[in-house]
Amino acid sequence: MTLDRPRVLVVGGGFGGLYAARALRASAARVTVVDRTNHHLFQPLLYQAATATLAPSDITAPIRWLLRKQPNVEVLMASVDRIDVERREAVADGGALAIPYDYLILAAGARHSYFGHPEWETAAPGLKSIDDAIRIRQRVLLAFERAEKTGDEDRRRRELTFVIVGGGPTGVELAGMLPTIARDALAGDFRRVDTRRARVILLEGGPRLLPAYPAPLSEAARRSLEALGVEVRTGARVTHVARGVVEAGAERIHAATIVWAAGNEASPLGTSLGAPLDGMGRVVVEPDLSIPGHPEVFVVGDQAAMTSGGRPVPGVAPAAMQSGRWAAANVKRRIAGESTRAFRYLDKGDLATIGRYRAVARFGRVRVSGPLAWWLWLFVHILYLAGFRNRASVLVEWGYAFFTYQRGSRLITGLGRSPAA
Ligand SMILES: Cc1cc2nc3c(=O)[nH]c(=O)nc-3n(C[C@H](O)[C@H](O)[C@H](O)COP(=O)(O)OP(=O)(O)OC[C@H]3O[C@@H](n4cnc5c(N)ncnc54)[C@H](O)[C@@H]3O)c2cc1C
Repeated sequence: MTLDRPRVLVVGGGFGGLYAARALRASAARVTVVDRTNHHLFQPLLYQAATATLAPSDITAPIRWLLRKQPNVEVLMASVDRIDVERREAVADGGALAIPYDYLILAAGARHSYFGHPEWETAAPGLKSIDDAIRIRQRVLLAFERAEKTGDEDRRRRELTFVIVGGGPTGVELAGMLPTIARDALAGDFRRVDTRRARVILLEGGPRLLPAYPAPLSEAARRSLEALGVEVRTGARVTHVARGVVEAGAERIHAATIVWAAGNEASPLGTSLGAPLDGMGRVVVEPDLSIPGHPEVFVVGDQAAMTSGGRPVPGVAPAAMQSGRWAAANVKRRIAGESTRAFRYLDKGDLATIGRYRAVARFGRVRVSGPLAWWLWLFVHILYLAGFRNRASVLVEWGYAFFTYQRGSRLITGLGRSPAA
């Protein structure tokens, strides 16, 4: 170890990694943040970019820019392939780059999983990155364009059918936004097709939507979605997906746009640590967030199976921020020769929106649904988004974009020479 200036490597510039790097601001450490993209992404608003409500630039910011005022931090854009815990280095860019460390904070997050059917991904893309959101937005907008130009009623019906697989927060938020867009943002722009006829079907394999929420909120979410015209099917386990078709048991649904929001698995980077993994591929960490046998390696956020007070910590943004900060504090303690502390998670509750003006929320024992929950959601998200983009103008910009259905976010780009058919 370099005695005077220990090297801390943070892999991932998401919520976990960013908050870890920020918490190392007042430390003697030299910090390197590595991410395969050049931007931090505000994932909770991804569905708004995927449904053409917000532009990608509204919910992203360059990691380099976010950390520009921290002289002890350098940012590298590189894709980490594996961690060599014995040599204490991260191997990146296909072996072309080796980044040594004295302490490692691994925060590479999670991806969607297809329950053993990776071949479904082309037909039903998932929503995790800004590229995913742009791809889904393109499919949604192209479906309306094709519906406008076809004379065939069956085809038009298929183009205007949208299936969302998975009734967790992402699925519920996507399903609630699509009818809103079809009705309010697009209807006046099309001549031949009535975009309000768009059919949105939400398929959930379990008995209720939002399984992590209290049952009355699941019911409130279902009612709100149905009021928007969404067809909600619970107990609908998807058995096959191909381009333009979904099968759930005996039912076969033809839909031009299918979106996958049904499962998560942690970044495969965790496997190279040699630490125990849970069923979702998450690294099972010690109470202080380090891994067994390697007190210099910490894993945080969606990539870690963490507990607090003996209870599992959920895979949400506040948990990633808090664990990132906590791991950084433990690194500082180790540098100072002190013992580390067990992670304590502060549960701030759950919030999910349904369309534009409804939401469900849980704060401790308090449960709220309807417009009040939506205003709470708006307040919390504007607060966080302002913190991450770090300027007051975001309130005006984002508020304006949200309430006026930003036209710029409805551009279809990147088609090359392929026709929109
Ligand atoms: C659509 C969606 C909606 C959500 N809504 C909510 C919500 O409303 N409220 C809430 O609390 N939570 C929500 N979440 C969950 C929340 O966003 C995550 O819990 C949180 O982002 C986890 O943070 P993280 O830092 O662990 O991972 P991430 O934010 O995923 O960051 C991981 C980072 O690691 C980088 N990376 C990955 N692999 C590599 C590699 N091999 N090399 C280099 N870099 C790599 C990625 O590029 C990324 O920047 C949502 C998630 C999604 C996908």
